[in-house]
Amino acid sequence: MEFGHTAFTASAAMQEGIIRFTLEFAAAPALRHGEITEIEGLRQRLRGARVLGQDPDRYGGYGFGNVSRRLAPYGETPTARRYLITGTQTGVIPRLTGDHYAVVRECYPDENRVVAEGPVPPSSESLTHGIVYALDDSLRWVIHAHAPTLWREAALLRLPTTHPAAAQGTPEMSREVKRLFTETDVRAYKLFAMGGHEDGLVAFGRTAAEASEALFSKLEAVGRS
Ligand SMILES: [Zn+2]
Repeated sequence: MEFGHTAFTASAAMQEGIIRFTLEFAAAPALRHGEITEIEGLRQRLRGARVLGQDPDRYGGYGFGNVSRRLAPYGETPTARRYLITGTQTGVIPRLTGDHYAVVRECYPDENRVVAEGPVPPSSESLTHGIVYALDDSLRWVIHAHAPTLWREAALLRLPTTHPAAAQGTPEMSREVKRLFTETDVRAYKLFAMGGHEDGLVAFGRTAAEASEALFSKLEAVGRS
């Protein structure tokens, strides 16, 4: 890559797991089993591939990776763009239940503000998911994965990549993702690398299969992880 990714290791490790946006959170009952079946199925695949989880030797022991899906009824305004997302620091839990998911009710990328409810607060990377949904209303699934080899080879694979100075949960990240959607072929890749977030990748799609295929095909191309 053109930038020294190792220089970002320390700051990325410190950022992992820390909510950097304004979160307006209200406690709400657990989700029903049927509401989380499909998303948990995808999460199991990601956990099996070790691109989501928790490892004492990675990122200072913080959980990493998260997954979300839009909830009907779909609409293009911030208040009609609800999504279900894994709760914060749930990577360590092998199998999640309705107690471990949150619902983002409103997301305002330009204001760095997320309004959510659930039995647990949403993932610390909820805002990144919301940025993607705000850019294309047809997208229904977003995966944030951590894959060291694929991240390091992003430039080699010509994978669209956000600027290394753009930290997650900042207006710069929002602008960078927007730039990728307007200036690169990220819609074809359905995948981009986060230049300033160690090992961080974001895959998306209209279905769970489309989003996971975008990620797993590239993981396989670099020999997993
Ligand atoms: Zn991350």
